[in-house]
Amino acid sequence: MFEFERRGYLQAGSFVPVVTLEKPEAVRLLYEEFVHAGSDIVQALTYYAHRAKLRIIGRENELEKMNRDALKMARQVADETGTLMAGNICNTSVWKPDSPEADEKVRNIFKEEIRWAVEEGADLLIGETYFSYGEAKIALDCMKEFGNGLPIVLNISANSSHDPTRPTPDGVPLIEALKRLQEEGADVVGLNCHNGPMTMIKYLREARKVIKGPMAAMPVPYRTSDKCQSMHELFDPETGKKSFPVDLDQWLCSRQHIVDFGNACKELGIQVVGICCGNRSHMTRTLAETLGRTPPASQYSMDMSKHISVIDDEEHGFSVQSFRESFHVQSPV
Ligand SMILES: [Zn+2]
Repeated sequence: MFEFERRGYLQAGSFVPVVTLEKPEAVRLLYEEFVHAGSDIVQALTYYAHRAKLRIIGRENELEKMNRDALKMARQVADETGTLMAGNICNTSVWKPDSPEADEKVRNIFKEEIRWAVEEGADLLIGETYFSYGEAKIALDCMKEFGNGLPIVLNISANSSHDPTRPTPDGVPLIEALKRLQEEGADVVGLNCHNGPMTMIKYLREARKVIKGPMAAMPVPYRTSDKCQSMHELFDPETGKKSFPVDLDQWLCSRQHIVDFGNACKELGIQVVGICCGNRSHMTRTLAETLGRTPPASQYSMDMSKHISVIDDEEHGFSVQSFRESFHVQSPV
């Protein structure tokens, strides 16, 4: 979603994936780009393509087409590349604790999205960005009931208000929530969004102590810290303005941060890894390579032995000495 906003195909604010209807070829190309970079799950771009969000922008009548088209293209790319296709069942933003009426609304949203994902041939369902155990539990129940037995990955987003020992907004501690969801039938449980890798790894270390089954980790690629644990808490140090959502680039992780994250996931035995809002394909390649993969994009991974700053080849006119002199480089580049 962030990538299409950056490219000018959808709007920050509503963050509804209208690009699927207005520029479908861009969606297909981005799916392909991430597989090229090493992703082995093509996740359909249906985040926030649900009834409550479409109503805000007055396009509720296009909801089903938006979902089905995103799923169809993801299925095609997965088939062409030998990868898996995942339906995406995200947070609704309308759930609230102790409200049977909200529960019913949420259930209806999940039910139709799951049905479309199943009918369009998803290999698995990824439920993500739930802020609370309560909403994640409804998603899980719906996936079990309407998901035709597809594997379920269920991710909670740790809000700024909670660390692993604090409760989610409905009072269930984060790690306890993950533990319960796995016991209640989720095949994989984990965390996605909000936290950068350095913050999320701390939560995951705590979670791994009690979660025995497969786990997932999909942080945002921003440099959050103990002081600012989520991307929503980052402020521009010069202007004092909030960086979320369109000014987060100044906090972007380096490739080394992604390497460190990948290694930490390996060490913790986290099986489903990825990067959430703000991901770019070079980061997926870095993550894939850290995990021992050689995706097609690796043919262009860095090789500084070919850079003019280190080539001494008088015959063809390359000279390390003259390079350093012309760029006033004092020490080796
Ligand atoms: Zn995200």
